[in-house]
Amino acid sequence: MRILGYLVVGLLGLIIFMVANTVAWLPAGEAKSLRPATYDTTDARRMAENLAGAVRFQTVSYSYEQAPDDVAFKGFQDYLVKTYPNAHAVLEREVVSDYSLMYRWPAGADTGKKPIALAAHMDVVPVPERGLADWPQPPFAGVIDGEGILWGRGTLDDKGLLISIMEAAEKLARAGFSPDRDIYFLFGHDEELGGNKGAAVMAKMLQERGVRLSWLMDEGSAIAAGVIPGVKSPVALISLGEKGSVTLKFSANDDGGHSSAPKDYTAASLAAKAGVAVTENQYPLVLDEHLESFLKAVAPEQPFLNRFMIANLWATRGVLAGELAKSPTVAAFMHTTTAFTMMEAGTKSNILPQYGEAVVNYRIHPRDTVEGVVARATEIIADDRVMVEVMGEGREATSLSSPVGEGYQTIAGTVQAEFGDIPIAPTLTVQGTDARHYDGVADGVYRFMPLVVGKDTLKQIHGTAEHISIEALARQVSFYEALMRASAGSGTP
Ligand SMILES: [Zn+2]
Repeated sequence: MRILGYLVVGLLGLIIFMVANTVAWLPAGEAKSLRPATYDTTDARRMAENLAGAVRFQTVSYSYEQAPDDVAFKGFQDYLVKTYPNAHAVLEREVVSDYSLMYRWPAGADTGKKPIALAAHMDVVPVPERGLADWPQPPFAGVIDGEGILWGRGTLDDKGLLISIMEAAEKLARAGFSPDRDIYFLFGHDEELGGNKGAAVMAKMLQERGVRLSWLMDEGSAIAAGVIPGVKSPVALISLGEKGSVTLKFSANDDGGHSSAPKDYTAASLAAKAGVAVTENQYPLVLDEHLESFLKAVAPEQPFLNRFMIANLWATRGVLAGELAKSPTVAAFMHTTTAFTMMEAGTKSNILPQYGEAVVNYRIHPRDTVEGVVARATEIIADDRVMVEVMGEGREATSLSSPVGEGYQTIAGTVQAEFGDIPIAPTLTVQGTDARHYDGVADGVYRFMPLVVGKDTLKQIHGTAEHISIEALARQVSFYEALMRASAGSGTP
């Protein structure tokens, strides 16, 4: 009885400690909201018209086999020169691989600060014929409707950002701003194909010239509003890195023969078994320090039980990881994902197949590697009859940039100044962007677009009815202006 008594007292003490932890570390608070935008409507209208003009150039990326539309891309380049004369008077401009643009705004005085870079891309994905009817306005007409909405392919991904950077530069140049460090604008022309001719080449040029960036910001994450289950506050998610990917083929060969006298396996069953084996042995789910800072950022608006769990991760990490991973979207941030996507075997129902294959696509978390994925799959399958091969070329994940580095801090500070006191948290980008090419030339590579993204917005990217409001565009421009002032504006107008 005495032991039981100690246990009860001990348990009670523990609960009191955990509750105290919760109250002390993560007190309850209201869900945060965005600060309303303040902008000059005439000015914003002019910016939207400039973006509308940019949308009309059909800078579509189809494939590396199909050459870019020379007239559209060159037309777009000239359009920037013509539209932003003040910026072009202070910027050095280089055309890379015929269509990409590398701008440098040289520092007015040598302060010894490393350069920074803002990246965006000028190419867009095609608009499929069958989706055309769902566009309220034609995708390349650049129409601003009566509600102040600009419709068009690229308004979000990614001409909207490119034009916002140029608008901010034009405004700063006109005001006589002179940066105290070099600022690069890196505008790729083939991001939608992988950035091999644009961003990859520009990164190499920077490296060869001995340019080491303090940080770079590109697309890839945004301010999420109403997207994360159970979170009411808009959350600015600043991405620290990108997942890689690799596709593996598990194949088996066999003699074949008539199906009336089979062995206890076939080439088909071996391949299928290998695919199932890796599916049932997923990578462990990890609630790492980045997901932890995300949870802490949104904790105040959470009910007591959630805050209790988050405040006491030392005890709840495992349970919470399991809960979070119930959403496949969240799980994707927590580990390397395994997706058994294709199978092929056999030619006829009564013939034993001579060949069978299973195809599995992995999206690699920065803590894993292509080589590690192959080794792990081989170990799980553990069958000499099955050959494990990499299909095409695997892509390694990028490194993870620091969430306390100069770039992150400056971006986060500018978010608070422009969008108000909303939670800010680091994240990971699950799709590819040009940013990954700059991993080796910058101390920090961040992915963030100063745009409020809802569920509806996500459907428009690479989808139908892509659009941006004049207000959102004005906010973007204001953000880039503030960002440049914050990072390179000591003592200039
Ligand atoms: Zn993009």
